[in-house]
Order: sequence, then C-alpha cells, then structure tokens
Amino acid sequence: MCDTNTYSNDNSIPYMEQTEKYVLHTYNRFPVVFESGDGVKLKDVNGKEYLDFGAGIAVFALGYGCREYNDALKNQVDALIHTSNLFYNIPLSQAAEKLIQASGMGEGSRAFFTNSGTEAIEGALKAARKYAWNKNPQGDHEIIAMHQSFHGRSIGALSVTGNAHYQEAFRPLMGGVRFASFNDFESVKAQVNENTCAIIMETVQGEGGIYPADPQFLRSVRALCDEKDILLILDEIQCGMGRCGAMYAWQEYGVAPDIMTTAKALGCGIPVGAFVLNGKTAGSSLVPGDHGTTYGGNPLACAAVSKVFDLFEEKKIVEHVKEITPYLEKTLDDLVSRYDCLSARRGMGLMQGVVVKDIPVGKIVSAALKNGLVILSAGSDVLRFVPPLVITERDIDEMKQILEKTLSEIY
Ligand SMILES: *Cc1c(COP(=O)(O)O)cnc(C)c1O
Repeated sequence: MCDTNTYSNDNSIPYMEQTEKYVLHTYNRFPVVFESGDGVKLKDVNGKEYLDFGAGIAVFALGYGCREYNDALKNQVDALIHTSNLFYNIPLSQAAEKLIQASGMGEGSRAFFTNSGTEAIEGALKAARKYAWNKNPQGDHEIIAMHQSFHGRSIGALSVTGNAHYQEAFRPLMGGVRFASFNDFESVKAQVNENTCAIIMETVQGEGGIYPADPQFLRSVRALCDEKDILLILDEIQCGMGRCGAMYAWQEYGVAPDIMTTAKALGCGIPVGAFVLNGKTAGSSLVPGDHGTTYGGNPLACAAVSKVFDLFEEKKIVEHVKEITPYLEKTLDDLVSRYDCLSARRGMGLMQGVVVKDIPVGKIVSAALKNGLVILSAGSDVLRFVPPLVITERDIDEMKQILEKTLSEIY
C-alpha cells in the first residue's frame, strides 16, 4: 500500500518497501510505521502522533511505556528468559496462581500456557476431546461452534471459526464440527447429539462484528451442557482481561465455562495465551504425553503475565473500565444519533462496535488514521473500539473530535 502515502518526505517508505520485499504478503497494511508509544499515544517514524483506540487488537491494556511493566520484563531478561517445560520456573508458578485466582473457576482448576490465542484454542479443543475419550474411547466426538465466530488461523482453530471465506481454501479441515447460530438456543440444540463433546463460543464475538452473548442464551447453553455432560468452552481471548468490565466477560453473566481460553491482553504485548480447565475437566483430561510446547509458559512470558495481574489490581483496571464505559457508550451513541452513516452501537465495556452503512468501513478507518486516530474494523461493516483500558474521558473526547472531523471529510 506504499502508494497511498500522504507525506512528501516520508521516513516510512524504506521500511514499507523492505517489508513488502521480504515479508509474505498476507496483510494489506496501512501505510504507517510506528516507532514508539506513550500512554494511549503512538508515534510513527515521521514523528506524527496517533491516539490509539485499537491497542494492537485489544492487547495493550495498560497503555504504552508502563514503567513497572517494562522494568519487570527487563529484570526477567537479565535473570532468565527460557528453560523449557522439562523444569519448573519461578514466573510460571506465580503467573499460574494469579490466572487461576482471577479466573474464579474454582477448586482444582488448572492452566496451560501457550504462545498465542490460536494455540490456546487448539489446547482447549484437545482437552475437550480427551475428556470425552476418557468417557468413551469409541465415540466420534463432535464440537459445536458458532457462525460468525473467530478462534484463530491454525487448522484446528480455523475448523471452529464460522467464516466460510477464511475456511474455503484450506479444506479438508478438522472433522466433527457442526455450526449453530450465536444467540439462537434452538439452533444449538438442533446440532446436539450423543457424540457432542463440547460447545465453543466467544462470550462477546469480536472479529465477527462485536456481538455480546445474550444472557438467556448463555444460561440455556450452560444448562444444556450440564444436562448432557457437554463441555462449555468460552473464548475470552479478546473480551477477557477486564475489557468488558469484569476480569472475564462470563463473570458478568454468572455463567462459568468448563474451559476458558485467554490471550491478547494476558501478556499486554508479550506473545502469550492460556487455556484454563475447571476442576471437573482438569481431573479427567490431558495428562503427561498428551500435550506440550517448547516456549509456552516460559519465564519471560510468565513474568509479563504475573506483572499484568499485579498491575490490574494495583491500578484497579477493572473498576476503571466499569467507571469509564458509560462515557464511551454515551459518546458513541451521540455520534450514531448525529450521523446518518452510523446506524447502531453494541458491545460491552471497552469493547464497542458501531455499525456503518452507505460507506465502506475501511474508508473511515483509513481516513481516521490519516487524522491521527487508530480504530479498527470488525466484520464487514463495523467500526471497532478496543482502546487501552487506561483511557480517560479526555481521550474519549479527543477520539470523538477526530472521528467527527473524519466523517465530515468523507461523508
Ligand atoms: C485474536 C483471537 C484469537 C486468536 O488469537 P491469536 O493470538 O491471534 O492466535 C482467537 N479467538 C479470539 C476471540 C480472538 O479475538
């Protein structure tokens, strides 16, 4: 996309050209090279500042340049970066305890650390299959997933991702997957049979267009799972870690999963994910030899996770999200009511979507970027707002100003 540049003397061109020459072209990147960050602001190689309402896709919850976080990583780099899972390490033990406590998944629950969200999904699927296999080694164990879902790009995660476009070229995918409609309990029930071992869904659908689960739907699915000993897998990779006003979004619903996946903001920028099994599942699922990873749970990644949980507590991040959410909602509602090209808002906490009509959503995202605001899209027609969780009312006001300017230019 080098040709869409706006600068006459643009320092980013050599980096963009080098990237396009050597990196496989699987992304149409925006023509910006970021170099540094401070709080909720990013700076590019031309010295231009951007207000960040994307947070590296819902990752950088604590904001950029958080001193305590950076120091924790630096100290761990000097102490020990990697050991493998053949040995114990200090940050792993601490990160696991904090994750299990934050999850509130109860007595006997256990965590497994991965390097990404996708791998957390892979592990969750394997754990569910193993749980079912322990009950019946002959069974052809099936998983029910949701249309418009997103769980990742590996073959297993892609197989439960309800997006035909992403799946098309990669068939045959993993077998034994059926799809139902999110927030439509009858459609889920219709896919259940004696082989069903798990139902997987995002508590709040992210990439699909920011759709929160309907409380009654989630409660009904939970009851169905209890009745038939089907495992409920809730993917909290995007909506978890405080973003929706609870440490994990399902905690707002009072409906607990048997297996939870987390990633994105879990390490606030260090690549790390995890899946957590509740006591019932952990007691009858993966055992030594069933699953593994070289990097997963390594000291550097776990030092990040451990510090993130500490800082969430010290800075009262979840409370802040709860406090600031009404202001973001009000601001977006106001925009929706004033611009004909914006038709609705939906979301939970600091995971909000605004539906766009008449103009391609990508056009708004590109134009906003030129005006110094990073926002994302989701689905085919939704503007996605997933800022760092430390944003203030002033940041929201600034976002609004830039968005108004952008809309007045293009609509
Ligand atoms: C981003 C995401 C994933 C995949 O995580 P990666 O870290 O990109 O592998 C899975 N599920 C959801 C809900 C996500 O938002």
